[in-house]
Amino acid sequence: MYLDRRKWMAVAGAGAVGAVATHAKGAVQAAGEEPCPPGGGDLALKDFRQRSMLHVKETRVEKPRFPVIDVHTHFSFARGGRTGAAADDAVAFNATARDALAVMDRKGVRAVVNLTGGFGRGFEQALAAFDRAHPGRFFTCTEPMWGAFPDPKYPQLQADAVENAAKAGAKGLKVLKTLGLYLREKGREGPLVKVDDRRFDPMWEAAAAHRLPVYMHVSDPEAFFLPIDCTNERYDELGHHPDWSFHGKDFPSHREIMEARDRVFARHPKTLFVGLHVGHDAENLPFVSESLDRFPNLTVELGARIGELGRQPRASRKFFEAYQDRIFFGTDAVPPPEGESTPQQVFKDELYEIYYRFLETDDEYFDYAPAPVPPQGRWRIYGIALPDGILKKVYHENAERLLGVKA
Ligand SMILES: [Zn+2]
Repeated sequence: MYLDRRKWMAVAGAGAVGAVATHAKGAVQAAGEEPCPPGGGDLALKDFRQRSMLHVKETRVEKPRFPVIDVHTHFSFARGGRTGAAADDAVAFNATARDALAVMDRKGVRAVVNLTGGFGRGFEQALAAFDRAHPGRFFTCTEPMWGAFPDPKYPQLQADAVENAAKAGAKGLKVLKTLGLYLREKGREGPLVKVDDRRFDPMWEAAAAHRLPVYMHVSDPEAFFLPIDCTNERYDELGHHPDWSFHGKDFPSHREIMEARDRVFARHPKTLFVGLHVGHDAENLPFVSESLDRFPNLTVELGARIGELGRQPRASRKFFEAYQDRIFFGTDAVPPPEGESTPQQVFKDELYEIYYRFLETDDEYFDYAPAPVPPQGRWRIYGIALPDGILKKVYHENAERLLGVKA
């Protein structure tokens, strides 16, 4: 499956940073690769895995130029939490600290933020398994108790839960798109709850009072809100994950969610928000820039969006120059086997190497994910060759301030 990549890795050899001139991959079938189906002019899109014939520089960046703090990983999950249906506070683990540390040590990742640590007893278990077992390497965040939302006492219960989690050692509060796209008045039923619902005000304020940044992900790529038809640039991805489509039914538009989110930013100026996935609008850097200009309490993170940033390398480079103090390195990494279904975020050595290549080199037209077909959209990316000063900030200095840790 990953033949092209293995092939160039063999060419690049074992050097820490190897730049090699490559040869365009020939049309001849390579050993071990699935044969092409007979198609002629009727080849199905799913069978199309075109190879680039470009002869361009390929750099393997095995280690980052400076130590990295990855502020967006998922090593645990509140069970049912993603759909707002968590019945209790149980947490499921999808990696052990030992497995995670092996990848981190190989790839120069000094520390990670495990965003989805759940709440209550599950959160305590996550803290014990990661943060307390390996101080300084893992920082776990708590999550809202979505299942308790229908309780009339929820606003205060939630504020208290945030306070308790902070005292136990939480490093942030993670708000998934459960808010805005899944959570309904009666949990799974009734009207969707809006992102700026007043019943969350005590939660946002508690986060500020206890100095917990809020890692927010309440909307998705614009294409997820459009029909899955021949014009949708994420057609393959939505085919693999039809539940990611928020087109039709009673879903709000992407714009409506962003406006509700902005009202939350404006109403809680003391709360620090990390807009995950480049402020959940990586396709629209002018809008993200405007948001950063409007809200001093907003920062952003890169997770699972180098595919977007890397296809607009000149705009991206300007964005990094302008907001270099407010951008965090993040990957949205999910360990295998679960992560395999989303190669752009699979927690593996190859994923980190692609991020480093994007940020550090001026390589052209390469894959943004370790997969035979680009999983988010059928395009490739260009490196933005950040200068050392900006790289250091994005790799770890900004995150050190966020987490309150010393280098
Ligand atoms: Zn994530």
